[in-house]
Amino acid sequence: MRQRVFSGARPTGRQHLGNYLGAIQNYVALQDAYDCIYCVVDYHALTTMVNPRELRGNIQDMVLDWLAAGMDPQRSIIFVQSHVPQVAEFHLLLSMVTPLGWLTRLPTFKEKVRQQPDNVNYGLVGYPVLMACDIALYKASLVPVGDDQLPHLEFSREIVRRFNHLFGPVLVEPEAKLTTVPRVMGLDGVNKMSKSLNNHIELAATPEETRRRVMSMVTDPARQYRTDPGHPEVCNVFSLHKVYSPGQVAQIEADCRSAAIGCVDCKKLFAANLNRTLAPLRERRASLAGQPELVRQVLADGASRAQVIAAQTLREVKEAMGL
Ligand code: SF4
Repeated sequence: MRQRVFSGARPTGRQHLGNYLGAIQNYVALQDAYDCIYCVVDYHALTTMVNPRELRGNIQDMVLDWLAAGMDPQRSIIFVQSHVPQVAEFHLLLSMVTPLGWLTRLPTFKEKVRQQPDNVNYGLVGYPVLMACDIALYKASLVPVGDDQLPHLEFSREIVRRFNHLFGPVLVEPEAKLTTVPRVMGLDGVNKMSKSLNNHIELAATPEETRRRVMSMVTDPARQYRTDPGHPEVCNVFSLHKVYSPGQVAQIEADCRSAAIGCVDCKKLFAANLNRTLAPLRERRASLAGQPELVRQVLADGASRAQVIAAQTLREVKEAMGL
């Protein structure tokens, strides 16, 4: 029996390098050794204001990128959270065993209140309960997380433990599958790469757009003139060269330090390597996008497979609770 892995991602639309290096490539690799369930968590997206048309488009775009990157709907269950209605009922039931104080004390909740003071909705408070439901409903034993997400997973584990303590050992307490999640910086070199900051490079961007964005990247601020020696260790272009220019890194580092290469040429080299690496993914994406029914079919199939597991868990939960 292979262990079951669950991971969810908010529908953020077209994916960027940060999404790929931080999550998607790991999702693809995990498929070899585990039974994976990957969920587009659209209910979670509703805790912040959303535009319905944009939400649907974002799901479509994100799943297209996932498939193009190698997430395989034959091997993994890929589905949308709200297509499995059992999760909403399960959320209600798990909310009954979650003390309110646990939720309102969470730093993530306080941060959200600070970010959106005009929209502190009920769903926002229950967000971590819904996260626990996502994992526990599918009895996933492993959740891929980076160090920084361990407290979130621990919270889910606490809810599961509390449920099992009160009603018997029905739910599986998930373990962390620790992964190294590189912090991919944006074009500004200061903030994490993110679509909302518009400092990102989309996986499916055209080669020209990719080049344009790369050429706008902030480099070593101490390098004012072409003849100034550079400090690759503080340069985001160099960090990404390490991923996309294997075999050339030592040379680039030496050339930067000795000012043998200027930032413009260095970025051109990076853009060329990035475009070459992403070309097969982009080709696959274009071909998948030419099959308008494909994403709908993948998600419908994923939802029906997920529902089988979800219905069984919910039956066990309700029975344990005396319903
Ligand atoms: S030469 Fe390259 S690595 Fe060095 S500072 Fe410029 S862009 Fe960065």
